[in-house]
Amino acid sequence: MSQFIPVSEPSITQKEVDYVADAVKSGWVSSHGEYLLEFEERFADFIGTRYAVSNCNGTVALHLALLVLGIKSGDEVIVPDLTFVATANAVSYTGAKPVFVDIERNSWCIDPCDIERAITEKTKAIIPVHLYGHPANMDDIVAIAKKHSLYIIEDCAEAHGAEYKGIKVGSFGDLSAFSFYGNKVITTGEGGMITTDNEEYYRKAKYLRDHAMSEEKRYWHTDIGYNYRMTNIQAALGVAQLERIQEILEKKRQIFEWYHKCLSNVSDIVLNPETSWAKNIFWMVSIVLTHATNNKRDDLMLKLKNDGIETRPFFYPLSDMPMYTTHRKTDTSVAHYISERGINLPSSAKLTFEDVEYVCGKIKEWKSSTL
Ligand SMILES: *Cc1c(COP(=O)(O)O)cnc(C)c1O
Repeated sequence: MSQFIPVSEPSITQKEVDYVADAVKSGWVSSHGEYLLEFEERFADFIGTRYAVSNCNGTVALHLALLVLGIKSGDEVIVPDLTFVATANAVSYTGAKPVFVDIERNSWCIDPCDIERAITEKTKAIIPVHLYGHPANMDDIVAIAKKHSLYIIEDCAEAHGAEYKGIKVGSFGDLSAFSFYGNKVITTGEGGMITTDNEEYYRKAKYLRDHAMSEEKRYWHTDIGYNYRMTNIQAALGVAQLERIQEILEKKRQIFEWYHKCLSNVSDIVLNPETSWAKNIFWMVSIVLTHATNNKRDDLMLKLKNDGIETRPFFYPLSDMPMYTTHRKTDTSVAHYISERGINLPSSAKLTFEDVEYVCGKIKEWKSSTL
């Protein structure tokens, strides 16, 4: 039997094909068009914010959010040590410095106590990341931000639809950033979105996204802006995906429940957390091998690969990467512990119960052979 189960693949139906074809045929192929307006309006509706601004990718959405808040050289921005590199890189693009802090063992997201420890006069903002679909501890983060007059930018790239105490993430920050890369909850190929309730931030994000062109006078530019726009073709794909997001999220929860059932009696393997405040969307169903060293983790990944099962290691702590080793950080031992032992399992909405059973069977096989 030769099969291949990928970690992630997009869920594309005839609806997506039809909308994209419609956008192409309409001639509105660049950054104007009905699908763009519709995508932004409906996305804001879905998250529960007043405004949404589309971008060419999630990294750019983060960069633009930082620019809107005036983050610049000499400033510091607090980020979790365990996240995709884009979170920190976007800070670096502005000339500011990312400062790395630890995560919580029970949520895999930024630890509010550590945020407080890392604050200095230079600190301007916090970027909580809702890692692998689990919301960060927003009440505590919002309280700290208020107390120290800091901005919050939520990195929601992996958490479309995740909820903190019944409220969708992407509505807690001054601005929030989403990604629509091919492996995210919904996709536009490449793409990103900023959400906000603040009209001034909304206007400034649109202005900087479009070469900082004056609203009154075309081709008069009053700042060095950017071309960070999404195309109408991408937005067409986005509208179709957004119309199906409920179905995709329900399937993801189902897949997590299948894994949970199949692995529930296996010792030393912990699945994604879901704290009392959280509705996790399980962007990536993941396991942490609580008793394994780094080598053991890689050994399991190799075995699964030979069985036609693709997996991913967790992100590496950013403070260990060459460009960030000299940056300020707190003790990030939980980030290191989770990073070394974590694996993302196949998580596409296309998976069947039989696929999940097969993956879990191979994990159990490895487990009994290594004891
Ligand atoms: C994917 C991702 C991004 C960046 O999004 P792109 O669209 O790939 O630029 C940022 N932060 C996190 C946590 C991500 O997972």
